[in-house]
This record gives sequence, C-alpha cells and structure tokens, in this order.
Amino acid sequence: MRQTVELVSNQGTTADQEMDTSPLAIRGLTVTYGEKPAVFSVDMTVEPGKMTAIIGPNGAGKSTLLKAALGIVPPVSGRVQVFGRPLEAMRARIAYVPQRASIDWDFPTRVIDVVMMGLYRELGLLGRIRGHHRTVARDCLDRVGMGDFADRQIGQLSGGQQQRVFLARALAQDADLYLLDEPFAGVDAATEKAIITVLKSLRAAGKSVVVVHHDLATVADYFDNVFLINTRKVAEGPVAEAFTPETLQAAYGGRLATAQIDQLAVVQG
Ligand code: ADP
Ligand code: MG
Repeated sequence: MRQTVELVSNQGTTADQEMDTSPLAIRGLTVTYGEKPAVFSVDMTVEPGKMTAIIGPNGAGKSTLLKAALGIVPPVSGRVQVFGRPLEAMRARIAYVPQRASIDWDFPTRVIDVVMMGLYRELGLLGRIRGHHRTVARDCLDRVGMGDFADRQIGQLSGGQQQRVFLARALAQDADLYLLDEPFAGVDAATEKAIITVLKSLRAAGKSVVVVHHDLATVADYFDNVFLINTRKVAEGPVAEAFTPETLQAAYGGRLATAQIDQLAVVQG
C-alpha cells in the first residue's frame, strides 16, 4: 500500500518536470463552441526537438487544440505552458501556420510582405523595415524554394506555393516551437517534399515541430511522435508505440476500414 502511494507521488514529480521542459504542455484542456465540447479534458506533452503529428478524423478537435494552445480560442478549462512558462510570456517563441483554407487573399499583398509579417515582433509596429529585414525575408523564401516569387501577389499563387510562403513567414519568426495545421493538404508532391525537408532541418536545429496531419501513410516516415485525438486524447507517444492498429481504431472507429489499418501496420513495419 505504502509503495503504491510512493509510486503515485513519483509520477507526479515526473509529470511536473516534463511540464517545465516541454515546448508545449497542456493539462485538462476543454474547449466548447456551443453545447458540445470540441476538445475534452486533454493532456498533451510535446517532446522537445522532435516532430509530432496530431492525428484524428474530421471534426476531432485537431485545429481547435492548436488554436487553444495559441490562445486564439478561449478554453473552458485547462492550462497551457510553453517551455515551462505561461503562454503570454512565450508567444514570440511560437510560429503558427494556420490551415490554408482559413485565409482569405482578396486583399492584395506581395509575397515578400507576407514573409515580412513574420518579423513584426522584431520590428515593432512603428519599426522601420531595413535592408537586413528584406534579406532575412528573402533568405526564408529561398529556403522554401520561392525566392523568385518575392514580388508576386500572394493571391495569384497556387495553393502549394501559398503554403510555402506561409512556411517562409514562420521561418522568419525564428521561433523554437512550430505549429502547423495540415500544411500538406492539397499541395503538389514537390511542395510536400520542400515542406518536409524544411521541417526536418528545423528539427535538426533543435526546434520542436507539431503538425496536424491527415495522411496516415506518411506518419511513420515523417514523424517521431504522434498524438491521436477524437475530442478526447486517444494515444500519445513514439510512432512505434502510439500509432498502432488499436489506437487508430480507437481514434477513427468505423470511419477507417480495417483493410486500411492493416495496410498501415505493414507500412509501419
Ligand atoms: P478538426 O481540425 O479535427 O477537423 P476542429 O477543431 O476544426 O476539428 O473542429 C472540432 C469541432 O468543433 C467540430 O465539430 C467543428 O464543427 C466544431 N467547430 C470548429 N470551429 C468552430 C467554430 N468556430 N464554431 C462552432 N463550431 C466549431
Ligand atoms: Mg482542422
């Protein structure tokens, strides 16, 4: 009996330590838009220096989880810590690439200006854009293979090209935690390759990358860790442990054919 009590308290200590060092630690997070919760009582502990996929069916609360982590939507309950500190103190260390469909590009904006928005925190609202800021922005465009498009209107680009520009803006922020919502949705193969190469280079530089991801077939290839969600957390951990036919079945239920799950187990090896 005594031993049990000690075990519990030890676990508590480990969890606290994880919360202090994790790039993003979420505890007891519940978000509702109306009556029904979109995210319910979710705990998440992102591992530093890794690539983590957030996975779950449509409407599972993946985008809501990211938005709540960023303070874009208010939670009913729960708390968020970024590198062991409250979100408000750490915003400058987070870069966010929202789901592309959520952005309206009727407003005419040049590509280079979109990337420069990533520098506003450094510039301040009244700060002057200087030569070196333009150089940084152009370097970031080069890194995503969009160096030749700096002066184009963002609305004139293809979906994949726009997605690369948003990644360039996130790079300009020079953050430590990158949150991307379905960056590969509806992009061409070349763009997918360009994006994953950049994300892997961020990881190689010690950054933490969290991606809402819809393509189950590439999970094992692209990511270290997974976080499976269907309103509630279903599983969290290294791909080999948390991304299994059982956890997928639990997250997707009838929405994923058994054949698909078997196939994935093979892909995963
Ligand atoms: P996912 O990104 O996993 O597809 P979302 O986080 O977008 O899921 O949505 C989770 C649930 O919350 C869904 O049922 C969705 O319809 C609902 N929802 C999302 N955004 C809003 C909103 N702004 N107002 C009302 N309901 C919303
Ligand atoms: Mg979404």
